[in-house]
Amino acid sequence: MKIGVIGGGQLGRMLALAGTPLGQQFAFLDPAPDACAQALGEHIRADYNDTDHLRQLADEVDVVTFEFESVPAETVAFLSQFVPVYPNAESLRIARDRWFEKSMFQDLGIPTPEFADIQSQDNLDAAVKRIGLPAVMKTRTLGYDGKGQKVLRHPEDVVGAFAELGSVPCILEGFVPFTGEVSLVAVRARDGETRFYPLVHNTHENGILKLSIASTEHPLQALAEDYVGRVLDKLDYVGVLAFEFFEVDGGLKANEIAPRVHNSGHWTIEGAECSQFENHLRAIAGLPLGSTAKVGESAMLNFIGEVPAVEAVSAIEHCHLHHYGKAFKAGRKVGHATLRCPDIAALKAGIAEVEALIDK
Ligand code: AMP
Repeated sequence: MKIGVIGGGQLGRMLALAGTPLGQQFAFLDPAPDACAQALGEHIRADYNDTDHLRQLADEVDVVTFEFESVPAETVAFLSQFVPVYPNAESLRIARDRWFEKSMFQDLGIPTPEFADIQSQDNLDAAVKRIGLPAVMKTRTLGYDGKGQKVLRHPEDVVGAFAELGSVPCILEGFVPFTGEVSLVAVRARDGETRFYPLVHNTHENGILKLSIASTEHPLQALAEDYVGRVLDKLDYVGVLAFEFFEVDGGLKANEIAPRVHNSGHWTIEGAECSQFENHLRAIAGLPLGSTAKVGESAMLNFIGEVPAVEAVSAIEHCHLHHYGKAFKAGRKVGHATLRCPDIAALKAGIAEVEALIDK
């Protein structure tokens, strides 16, 4: 079976690394000449709205998937005429727009911060009166890794904030005084069977994920599964989806969903029986799902800007390096390390060792 992937970054690369042993082949459509997934499959170098090349991709592959959610809706609609596309167009439409996403959470009874649609500075001023400060303003689309958002703490931060974020449609959210951030990675098969990985604790720095630790028997696991299951069924979703939550007052508030394999699920390559990448491919290919059970105690640390020396990472016990083969650049995710340890003490020691390399 040949899989078409829209986007050829590290997520596409890790999909191919998981799918190759299943006998799958890959084609990536990505305009970037140095798309790092090209080492693992065919690279169709074209824009996402280039219908000639989209047609070529559709003709060559059995199924198409995505490694990012900002794919133009027309791209999905065009491809869907010729080849099955998972997740479906509706899932992408909702997940790429924070207003649709939060409205869906509300409709499904999933707690989420107070929010308002912002189309002008006047809208913003009115929303601040209703929601209060501090609040977080975010562009409705195209935001990632903390980009396209601004925390409004004082009345003077509100002045001109709509123009500052580019005078594009935004939402305003109440600021959540969270005690932690967790994510749940789930997979849903074509026949509706759904499986969940254990909840993961996430730590961000400057809006970018820095550290994920897979939990064991988290008290909020069942609640998170209930919320995520509602979304998966509502969207008739096929593939892996990640759901990010704030932990607050002993419960969960929905932040956002990603309709794809997710950075907070990278630990599953070594730390789960079947990784998020393999399970995504199994789901979209119509294969039975694999076990999401955790194997040992695992954590993932991102390498942002540069990857430490391979020798140094390899010297850490229980540590597995993933180098994406991308050019090093400040603020860019260029690799990660997974620690899979026999116990929590070994995991903590390993995290400290990797952090020491990052801070060097
Ligand atoms: P996002 O791109 O929505 O995931 O936001 C990036 C990060 O900003 C989150 O992981 C949080 O650490 C922080 N953040 C986002 N929204 C809020 C909020 N409503 N209240 C407090 N912190 C937030």
